[in-house]
Amino acid sequence: MVSRVIPVDPFDLVIFGGTGDLARRKILPGLFRRFVAGQMPATARIIGAARTKLDSAGYRKMAAEAIEEFGGIGSASADTLKAFLDQVEYVAIDAKGKAGWADLQKLMQGTGKVEAYYFSVAPSLFGDLAERLQQWGMADKDARIVVEKPFGRDLVTAQALNATLATYFDEKQIYRIDHYLGKETVQNLMAVRFGNMLFEPLWNAQYVDHIQITVAETVGVGGRGEYYDRSGAMRDMVQNHLMQLLCLIAMEPPARFDPDAVRDEKLKVIRALDPVLPHHINRGQYDAEPGNEESHPNYRVAVGDPRSKTESFIALKTQISNWRWSGTPFYLRTGKRMSARSSEITVVFKETPHSIFAEDAGRHRNVLSIRLQPNEGITLGVTIKEPGPGGMRLIDVPLDMTFAEALGEDAEQVDAYERLIMDVIRGNQTLFMRGDEVEAAWAWTDPIIQGWETRGEVPKFYDSGTDGTTDSHELMRRDGREWRKVSP
Ligand code: NAD
Repeated sequence: MVSRVIPVDPFDLVIFGGTGDLARRKILPGLFRRFVAGQMPATARIIGAARTKLDSAGYRKMAAEAIEEFGGIGSASADTLKAFLDQVEYVAIDAKGKAGWADLQKLMQGTGKVEAYYFSVAPSLFGDLAERLQQWGMADKDARIVVEKPFGRDLVTAQALNATLATYFDEKQIYRIDHYLGKETVQNLMAVRFGNMLFEPLWNAQYVDHIQITVAETVGVGGRGEYYDRSGAMRDMVQNHLMQLLCLIAMEPPARFDPDAVRDEKLKVIRALDPVLPHHINRGQYDAEPGNEESHPNYRVAVGDPRSKTESFIALKTQISNWRWSGTPFYLRTGKRMSARSSEITVVFKETPHSIFAEDAGRHRNVLSIRLQPNEGITLGVTIKEPGPGGMRLIDVPLDMTFAEALGEDAEQVDAYERLIMDVIRGNQTLFMRGDEVEAAWAWTDPIIQGWETRGEVPKFYDSGTDGTTDSHELMRRDGREWRKVSP
């Protein structure tokens, strides 16, 4: 079997912030990989647009370096890279002023192609860009805008941003990116749930004991300290990425795999989420790495605020008040400087109602784990008899499907960004957040954050290289459960 590349219509993609970190690390290398895969039409153009003073030749040079540095190049030849760069242009532009807009307008006039504008700039410029696009006649009804995270920092700011964008664009034209939704396994989650008869009948409070979602990083805040300290794990990870994963694991089957049917069901999950009680959530800040205090300082040193109350780790328990999930806890956890880089969703099923085996055979539970990174794949723990004589002793063995192994060459490594950009060109919004979803997620998150502020709560320290605060383990232990080990 050979992977199928479905061609997309000719397009012009303008990357506002085209000289920035995200454009260099993800967007340009991703687009180059699509070019190599044969998915980029020959008439497509990529137009970098940023404040940096550059001409197209300078931008192509920068793009080539970024593609080489950030892994887009693979085994592609210099000629292939050159052919790609021939489709790349640059306009120096000021989102807040007049400079460059007439040039961009000229480039985009009457092309007859799909027009997409990627807002890869600071969120404070999103409104300016939308307004300028309209002023300069580029907000046609078929144009699409791609909006990066963070989308607001609370409900009020998200509502204001939605309102601003709605002044210039219809909801059908707005693609709010959450790159977690572009991950292969996240889509596989839907394929596993709704493409198999096996799981869905068991996917409810009657058979599921609890669900865990862990997104663990080994890195600290790095050079993003100042930005990160203004948001923290709740705003940076839980409100968007973990919430999206929770929605996909908990939602009802949509009637069709189409954007609004899927997003309607996700929205219902968010709206049915219980408020989180103060003792069902705990926060942490990482400590310095012993022996490496200089290069791996503690969180407060890293962000340059000795009194920071922002969390780099969070663990919480929530419930979904609906017929399917009533009584089933969902445990969410994410943090920096944890023991391994790993994102995993785990569905822990209940024990059998009655064991026919002797006491010492042990009680066992099926565990379905869906690994987002690394080693994307799905493992189902099944209980079997321990081989050999000596009676009926039970052990758990994994039925393991690592996609790279199971699919071989077909497990084409498509990065989330390149997949999502191609979806924008195709006009498919399924994997993008709708405005009401984002607002509902903030409506759930806001009271949690306000509670910390009102109570003056300070996160506790946890050791670098561990799996978070001791309180987070206590949160589970109190319920007679434990977190899955974070393993690479
Ligand atoms: P960056 O600071 O590296 O780049 C900013 C870009 O915006 C530069 O190209 C700069 O020239 C341009 N710019 C700044 N002011 C401008 C103006 N007035 N007019 C025109 N262009 C202007 O930022 P980044 O890290 O690339 O992030 C871009 C967006 O993507 C942000 O919203 C960020 O939150 C989001 N994001 C970034 C990452 C990442 O890994 N970098 C991850 C997720 C989301």
